[in-house]
Amino acid sequence: MTTTQFSSEERNRYKAKAYAAANANSPLASITIPRRDPGEHDVQIEILFCGICHSDLHTVRNEWSAIPTVYPCVPGHEIVGRVTKVGSEVTKFKSGDIAAVGCLVDSDGNCPECQAGFEQYCPNMTLTYNSPDVHLGGVTYGGYSDSIVVKDHFVLRVPSNLDLAGAAPLLCAGITTYSPMRHWGVTKGKKVGVVGLGGLGHMAVKIAHALGTHVVVFTTSLNKKEDALRMGGADEVVISRNTDQMRKHEGSFDFVLDAVSAEHDINSYLRLLCHDGNMTLVGAPDKPHAVAAFSLILKRRSLSGSNIGGIAQTQEMLDFCGKNNITADVEVIPIQKINEAYNRLSKADVKYRFSIDMASLKSQ
Ligand SMILES: [Zn+2]
Ligand SMILES: [Zn+2]
Repeated sequence: MTTTQFSSEERNRYKAKAYAAANANSPLASITIPRRDPGEHDVQIEILFCGICHSDLHTVRNEWSAIPTVYPCVPGHEIVGRVTKVGSEVTKFKSGDIAAVGCLVDSDGNCPECQAGFEQYCPNMTLTYNSPDVHLGGVTYGGYSDSIVVKDHFVLRVPSNLDLAGAAPLLCAGITTYSPMRHWGVTKGKKVGVVGLGGLGHMAVKIAHALGTHVVVFTTSLNKKEDALRMGGADEVVISRNTDQMRKHEGSFDFVLDAVSAEHDINSYLRLLCHDGNMTLVGAPDKPHAVAAFSLILKRRSLSGSNIGGIAQTQEMLDFCGKNNITADVEVIPIQKINEAYNRLSKADVKYRFSIDMASLKSQ
């Protein structure tokens, strides 16, 4: 992570309303946070909606030892809002535009990853929340707030036909599933498996369908079967405990996206792949997966992982979703219901993403 090389910078700041966790066990509560006045390359955004990602919950509860949480913690990296001010050097946006911010708000811009447009793999990237804030000191604060200021390169355009509450989750769940499908050549006519129908999985189904593929959803839950078909994306639904059904599909998939973060046997999914097929993990269970070498060797299959997407590709994904009218299935909540939503999210009791209506924060 970047050191605070600019922390001595005298940047004017203003106060924004937000919701924060004071420690790993406390509920989220109202707070006032500082935001920097927009500099010449900055875009100031009035936040209209912010999706609730599983990462928000993990971070608030300090469950990721690799990135310890600094409190107070203001989560939120699925941000959609209206531009209220731009710096003198900003040409891409003007006041009044609808804009979006995802998981990243900065990177060094000159490492090999940044040069290739893979800001999400930059060793010096700044995450939207809980990353060192080079402008104000402390850590960055995310989208559970009425306002945010972000460098223009990391601000995205939202197609005007998309419902904004449902568009917010595209900024993490959408790009996390779109990026590996693009990387592994998922195109019209391919057979794609989606393991797990949650926040990520339901986006994967919609995107894979719009790419013209044959989509098969693997789920443990019978009651999600109807949903998967109703969404208009899944061509088939397989209950993964049914070994006969699983066997029927062996060796037939070009690509499988595994979005499950609970412990499970990935070999039964690897065996679904055809020769040179790929399975990408976007779910992260606590315990390491056991991989049988023969699951990979026999058909030169590959297993990989993927993390969100670069800025250019995130814009490409938003434009693709605009063209195909894709948004997340959301349950819109006022910010005051955030703790209830977290409880439900921890039990996977949401279809399929919560989206916070930030107008509720203003009236508070
Ligand atoms: Zn996320
Ligand atoms: Zn970089």
